[in-house]
Amino acid sequence: MSKCFLIGYPVAHSLSPAMFRAAFAACGLDWTYEAVPVLPGRVGSALAELRERGALGINVTMPHKEEVLPYLDRLTSRAQAVRAANTLSWMSREEGWEGDNTDWPGLVAALSQAGLPPRGEAVLFGAGGAARAAAFALAEQGLTVTVVNRSLAPGEELASRLRRWRPGEHRFLRWEDPALPGVLEGAVAVVNATPLGMGELRERSPLPAGQRLRPGCLACDLVYHPPETLFLRQAERAGARSVPGLEVLLWQGALAFQRWTDLAAPVEKMRAALYARASGRAEVAK
Ligand code: NAP
Repeated sequence: MSKCFLIGYPVAHSLSPAMFRAAFAACGLDWTYEAVPVLPGRVGSALAELRERGALGINVTMPHKEEVLPYLDRLTSRAQAVRAANTLSWMSREEGWEGDNTDWPGLVAALSQAGLPPRGEAVLFGAGGAARAAAFALAEQGLTVTVVNRSLAPGEELASRLRRWRPGEHRFLRWEDPALPGVLEGAVAVVNATPLGMGELRERSPLPAGQRLRPGCLACDLVYHPPETLFLRQAERAGARSVPGLEVLLWQGALAFQRWTDLAAPVEKMRAALYARASGRAEVAK
């Protein structure tokens, strides 16, 4: 029996166990997936303990995606660029743990399914861990990225790292910049990678009030609790096509499944389990 885990804090309400257990069952694998709460500062010892228990794959979620890096034996180029790992694979006793970032190709898969155009402007709200993965994903797909962030330094740094990685007109704008509404109106994709819309910020959206969007623009919210956010509702009203955060969660999980098992992910089974678990959780939260 192969064992996979999720580490993060908190993880009690994670949707990932339901999604991965459905995937293993659909493929007839007797693999297990368990969420383990790990306090900040305890990631190194947790990795050693889980390895003792026979872990072959570990997902890493907030707040450990950066803290885990020094404990890994090698990183994929994506994890190196984003400076965050969310999928760890045990290679062998000699090779140890490899860290990958499947948030990046997960976003690409979710946007591609919805018909992401091969070029144009994208607006990305946020400059934290999830935003870094999204920024590289959008630039890799040929889009020019405008990063919008509350704090200046991380926003400017992300835009300048993008320019070094994939030369282009990637830039940083403040929320209050008078150029922002026009940039948003011309964007082919708008991605929210802030917690606006979630929990206590449920009534907030990153979009300025009354903002117009390009018809058919893709609006993707990385927030998935609740599954349908104010940002997605506003964007749909403005003529955009919405890509919910659950789709990004699904595809990053499908890519982790493929890495660990070398099998094609049973995406429909994973999606059904994920949405069923998410709607149950949304009911409980009401
Ligand atoms: P993070 O590293 O803590 O970054 C948070 C970002 O949001 C920062 O840019 C921060 O700006 C900004 N922010 C925080 N509070 C804000 C506020 N009140 N107003 C405006 N901006 C604010 O978090 P993260 O890991 O990137 O996660 C961000 C979101 O993405 C979370 O909701 C998370 O659940 C979601 N997520 C979803 C997936 C998925 O698969 N769907 C994957 C990963 C993350 P400052 O720089 O100014 O602090």
